[in-house]
Amino acid sequence: MRSKYDVIVIGGGHAGIEAALAAARIGCRTLMLTQNLDTIGQMSCNPAIGGSGKGQLVREIDALGGAMGLNADATGIQFRMLNRRRGASARATRVQCDKKAYQLRLKALLEGTPSLFLEQAAVGEVLVKDRRVTGVKTELDRIIPADAVIVTGGTFLGGMLHIGRTSKIGGRMADSSSNLSESLGRLGFRIKRFKTGTPCRISRRSIEFSACEVQSGDFPIPRLSFENTKRGKDDLYTLNFDQAGQFHVEQIPCWLTRTTTETHKIIRGNLHTSPLYAGRVAGAGPRYCPSIEDKVVKFSEKTSHPIFLEPEGRHTLEFYVNGVSTSLPPEIQREFIRSIPGLHKAEILRPGYAVEYDYFPPTQLLKTLETKSISRLYFAGQINGTSGYEEAAAQGLMAGANAALKLKTGRELCLSRNESFIGILLDDLVEKGIEEPYRMFTSRADDRIKLRQDNAEERLSELAFKAGLITHARRAVVHKNQEFVERLKCVAVDTKIGGIPLAHLLKRPDFNSSDIPTEIKALAPVQTWDILKDEFKYAGYSHRQDLQNINWAQRGQERIPFGFDFTSIASLRSETQERLAAARPTSLGEASRISGVTAADISILHIVLKS
Ligand code: FAD
Repeated sequence: MRSKYDVIVIGGGHAGIEAALAAARIGCRTLMLTQNLDTIGQMSCNPAIGGSGKGQLVREIDALGGAMGLNADATGIQFRMLNRRRGASARATRVQCDKKAYQLRLKALLEGTPSLFLEQAAVGEVLVKDRRVTGVKTELDRIIPADAVIVTGGTFLGGMLHIGRTSKIGGRMADSSSNLSESLGRLGFRIKRFKTGTPCRISRRSIEFSACEVQSGDFPIPRLSFENTKRGKDDLYTLNFDQAGQFHVEQIPCWLTRTTTETHKIIRGNLHTSPLYAGRVAGAGPRYCPSIEDKVVKFSEKTSHPIFLEPEGRHTLEFYVNGVSTSLPPEIQREFIRSIPGLHKAEILRPGYAVEYDYFPPTQLLKTLETKSISRLYFAGQINGTSGYEEAAAQGLMAGANAALKLKTGRELCLSRNESFIGILLDDLVEKGIEEPYRMFTSRADDRIKLRQDNAEERLSELAFKAGLITHARRAVVHKNQEFVERLKCVAVDTKIGGIPLAHLLKRPDFNSSDIPTEIKALAPVQTWDILKDEFKYAGYSHRQDLQNINWAQRGQERIPFGFDFTSIASLRSETQERLAAARPTSLGEASRISGVTAADISILHIVLKS
C-alpha cells in the first residue's frame, strides 16, 4: 500500500470532516488523522446546527456538496425556522440534533467515502522543506508524507480547561489537548489565545416541566439541506418522507425557563471563585455567547435571563441548559441552577466549564486558507479565531477543496462577498483580521436580500460543479428546479385574481400562499410558492441594492471629519461605536475594513454623514 497521501487533514471536528470529504470528492487520496475516532463530529457545546447567520452558512455548505446540512436533517430531533416574521434574508433554519446520532452518521459517511482513510493518531509536528509542506509526524514519531496538510485542531491546541479554582490541560472535558502549536510556532506563525465556555447538562428526570414553557418544533418541518435523497442503501438515520412528499420526523420539545434574582445573587456572591473574574483566563471570549457570570455583571439592570432546556438526544436523559455557560465551581453551579423555576431538584450530570486555547490570527492566510508563508499548508476552523460549528465547517470545506484543486488542477475556489456568506467569512478573516471570536451574522452581508438561505443552491451549484464538489446529477436537479420556478413565475404573471396579477398579489404582506386558488397552488409545494413570494417581493430591493453596490466604490472615498464623535450615533451598536472611536477612521472605506464593523454599520454612518 502506498504510504504517501495527497492531503492529510489533522482533526475530526466540524472543519476536519468537511475538509476531508471535499478533498476526497475532488479525487485526492486523503487521510484524516484525529486524536480519537469516537469523537468525530462531536458537538462540544450545544447540540444544534444552524440559526441566525449560521443557517445561511449551512445552506451554502450543502450547496457546495458538504455534509453538515443533510446530517443535521437526518439526525434532527427539533426543527425551527427562526425570524419567520422578519424578511426572507433574516429567516434561518435551526436544527436541534441527536448528539450521538449526529456523530455516528458522520463517522459512517467518512468511513464509506472512497479515497478517504481514517486513522486515530495525534499529530505532533507538521513537516516542511524549503517552505513547502512534506507531511506530518505523529506524537508516536511516525512520519506520514503528504503533498498538502490541513490543520483543523479546534479548541485543542494548547487547550486549558478551567472550572472554579481548578485548571487542567485539555481540549474539551475528558479529552486531551495537543501541543501541535509549538511546531507551528517554530515555523514562524503568530499565536494568540481565545476562550469559550459551556453550561452544565442536567438529567431529564430531575426537571419539573410544569414550571417551564414548552417550545415545540415547526410544521411543516423546515430543513437545512436541499437534498432529498439518502446517500446510499446503508445510510444510517436516513430521511423520512410521507406519501405527500412531506419531510417527516417525530419532534421532541424544548422548554423555556428563566433565571431569578436569587440566581443572580448567588452568582454575584461567588464571582471571586470564577476563573474569568479571578483573572486566571486571559484570552478574549465570544461576545455573543457570554457566560452567565458576564450576563449578570454586564447587564446588572436585568432581573432575569431566558434559559432553554434542550434534549441532547432520543436515547439519553441529558438536557443541555442553554444560556448559563459558566466556569463557577460545580457546587456553586448546583446552587444557582436550583434557584431557577423547574430546576429546583436538578441533577447535574456534567458541570459547565471554560476552555482557553491557541488560535492563529487569520491575516496569516490567503483567501484559499493556505498559509502565506508555507506552501500547501492550510488552516481551518476554530484555530482561525472563529467560534461555532458552522463557521468551522464552511472553512473546512473551502480548505479541503482548495488543497485538492491546487494539487489536481492548479486552480482555486474563491467565493466573493457578493455571492455568499462563506465569501464574507473568508474575506473578513483574512482581510480584516479579528480581535475576538468571530461568528457569522446576516448583518455582515453588504447585500443580504440576495444571500438568502433559500437561494444558496442557485448561487453556488455551478461553482460547486466546476470544482468537482457536486455530481452532474445534482446539478441537473438544481437546473430543473430553477426552470420550474421560472415557469411558475410566468404563471404568476399571467394568472389574475379579481383582475390583479398573482405576481402583484404575492408581493403583499397580507397575501399568503393559502390564498392562491387551489388548482394553481397545486402546481408546486408550499415552500416553492414561498420562495416565489420572496422573489417578487424583493425584486425591487435587489435592483436598488445593485445600484448601491455600484456606488460603493465612491462611498468608500467619503471623508469622515476629523474629531467626529462616533459615540453620538445612537443607531450604531455600542461595540461598533467603541471600535470606530478607537480606530478613528478618516474615510468610510477605512471604517469598513475595521474588524467587526458591518455593511449595515457603514450604511448608517453614510446616512449620518450625509445629513
Ligand atoms: P473541534 O470541533 O474542536 O475539532 C478539533 C478536532 O481536532 C478534534 O477532533 C480533535 O480531537 C482534533 N485534534 C486536535 N489536535 C489534534 C492533533 N494534534 N492531532 C490529531 N487530531 C487533533 N462554539 C460556539 O459557537 N458557541 C459556544 O458557546 C461554544 N462553546 C464551546 C464550549 C466548549 C467547552 C468548547 C470545547 C467549544 C465550544 N464552542 C462553542 C466551539 C465549538 O466547539 C467549535 O466552534 C467547533 O467545534 C469548531 O470546530 P473545529 O472543527 O474547528 O474544531
